[in-house]
Parts: sequence; structure tokens; C-alpha cells
Amino acid sequence: MSDLAAVATWWRVTIRRRVGRGLSRQSEDVLIEAADRADLAAQLAGIKGAVDGYHQARIHECSVCGRSGPWTETWGWYGSVADLDNGNPVVKVCSPECFASAQASGLIPRTATTIDDVA
Ligand SMILES: [Zn+2]
Repeated sequence: MSDLAAVATWWRVTIRRRVGRGLSRQSEDVLIEAADRADLAAQLAGIKGAVDGYHQARIHECSVCGRSGPWTETWGWYGSVADLDNGNPVVKVCSPECFASAQASGLIPRTATTIDDVA
């Protein structure tokens, strides 16, 4: 999506951690904000567990308040999957408060109760 220019400060890191006493491992994605590559390397070195991989997190902009940041569990979007696939703008909100504002202003239909996650 062309409107989602990446910013160098947020990284999505996949970490594998041992679960319990057995050999099973659990993967988890965490977000790390780093000032630069050296800072990122230092933070990765301090992580408990095996770092499976990392990539620069896409930065999204809230359609209501304009705040930008990586996608987290508080974010949601409203629109059609076709628009999303075609790179057309969809409504994105960063928080339940902005979701409520978007509904109040008519940006999102009042009947919409849930919004899907997109990573
Ligand atoms: Zn917002």
C-alpha cells in the first residue's frame, strides 16, 4: 500500500520461547522501537528467547486522530477487502475511542460493531 510509508523506528520481532519444562516452543511477535540499527541490535541482544526473525513494521495512520504507528491489537479498519487488496484507502482507527468517533461522525456505519484486524 503506497500510503503506508515505513518508518525506521518500529520493528516487529518474532521470538521463540520455551514453554513449560518440555521441548515445546511458542512463537510471539513483539514490537520494538529503535533509534537506529545499533539500538535495534542492542535490544535484540537483550531479548530472552530465540529471535526467529524481524522486519520493519508497517506504519499506519489513524483516519480519525492522525496518529501514526505500527498495527497493534487496539487498531482496526473498516472498508472492503477489495479496496484493501487494491491499495485503495480504507478507514483505520487506532483505538476504541477513535472507532467511536468514526461511528459518531458517520465515517463508519453505526451498525458496525466489529472491525477486522490486519497485520
Ligand atoms: Zn486515532
